[in-house]
Amino acid sequence: MAGESGKRTEISQLGEFGLIDRIQQQFQLKNPTSVVGIGDDAAVIDTGTHFMLVTTDMLLEGVHFDLSYIPLGHLGYKAVAVNVSDIAAMNGLPRQITVNIGLSNRFSVEAVDALYEGIRFACENYKVDLVGGDTTSSASGLVISVTALGEVEKPRLVKRGGAQINDIVCVTGDLGGAYMGLQVLEREKAAFMENPVMQPQLKSYEYIVGRQLKPDARMDIIHELKELSLVPTSMIDVSDGLASELLHLATHSGVGFNIYEENIPLDQLTYHTAVEFKLNPVTCALNGGEDYELLFTISQQDFEKVKNHPDIHFIGYVQNKEKGIRLITKQQQSIPLKAQGWTHFNR
Ligand SMILES: [Mg+2]
Repeated sequence: MAGESGKRTEISQLGEFGLIDRIQQQFQLKNPTSVVGIGDDAAVIDTGTHFMLVTTDMLLEGVHFDLSYIPLGHLGYKAVAVNVSDIAAMNGLPRQITVNIGLSNRFSVEAVDALYEGIRFACENYKVDLVGGDTTSSASGLVISVTALGEVEKPRLVKRGGAQINDIVCVTGDLGGAYMGLQVLEREKAAFMENPVMQPQLKSYEYIVGRQLKPDARMDIIHELKELSLVPTSMIDVSDGLASELLHLATHSGVGFNIYEENIPLDQLTYHTAVEFKLNPVTCALNGGEDYELLFTISQQDFEKVKNHPDIHFIGYVQNKEKGIRLITKQQQSIPLKAQGWTHFNR
C-alpha cells in the first residue's frame, strides 16, 4: 500500500531500526513526566518518588514462533519473560503486565488455558500481577502482545546511553544457545515433515532447545547488582544478538568498543552444535539473538565488586567513538564488528 502522497518506499529499505527512528522523529515528548520515550529498552515515566518503566512486545505466529515446536505453555511464559527482560535492562523491577491475544477458531478453550498457565508461571516467578488485557479474534494465527510495567529508584535507572571511555563491558550467562536451539528445532521439524515416523531427537540438545523455548529474564542479576550497590553506566538486554546490542549501546552512548573474541561466553553444547551445523560459534553468539542475557558497562572502580562473579563475563572495554566497534580475534587481529541486526522485514 502506498502512503497518502502516493510515494512508495519498501520497509525493508529502512529495516526495523530505521523504521523505529522514523516514527520516533515524528513524535516529540510534551509532558514533563515523559522522561524517556521511544528508543530504549523501556519508556521511563516520572511518578514523583520513582520512575515507572513501560515496555511492550508482540509475538506473531509464523514470524516469532512456530506452534509445531513451541508448546503453548512455554510460549505464554516466554511472552512474559521477554518483556520482563526489557524492564531488567533498565535496572528495574517488574510489577504488572497486561496481555492481549488474538485467536483464530483453531484454538480451543484448553489451548487458551495452556497459554495462560505459562503466563501464570511467569507471573509467579517474576512476582508480577496480570492486571488486564484484550482478547480478539485473529484471521491469521495466534497473536500475543504483552505490556510490562516496572519501577526503579531514580538514581538506579540505567539507560543505553551512559557508557564512558575505559568502562568495562560485561555480559551475563552464555550467548548463541537460543539460536542454535532454533536450528536444531527446525532441522527436526524438517525431518519430521519428510518422514512422520521419525521422532525428533532433542534429548542431547536439551540445554540449547531450552534456551530457545523457555528463556528467562536475568532478574537475579538485577537483584545482585543492587546488593552490591553497583549501578551499570549503560545496559541493554541481548534480544537481537551481541553485535546488534553493542551497536545500540555505542550509538546511544557516543562511544566505541574493543571486544575480545576469546572472552565471549559460549556454552560447550552451543559450540559443538554450531560446529555440527558448519557455523562459526562466535558468529552465532554475535548475531544469533534471543538469549535474553544482559549486556552492560561498569566503571573501572566497580570491577572489584563483580570480578569473581561466576556468571558475569568481561568481554572488552569502552573506547573512543572514532575507533569504532572492533572485535579482537583469537589471532589478535582487530576487525570492525558489524551488526546484522534484525531481518523481520527481509524474510
Ligand atoms: Mg531490549
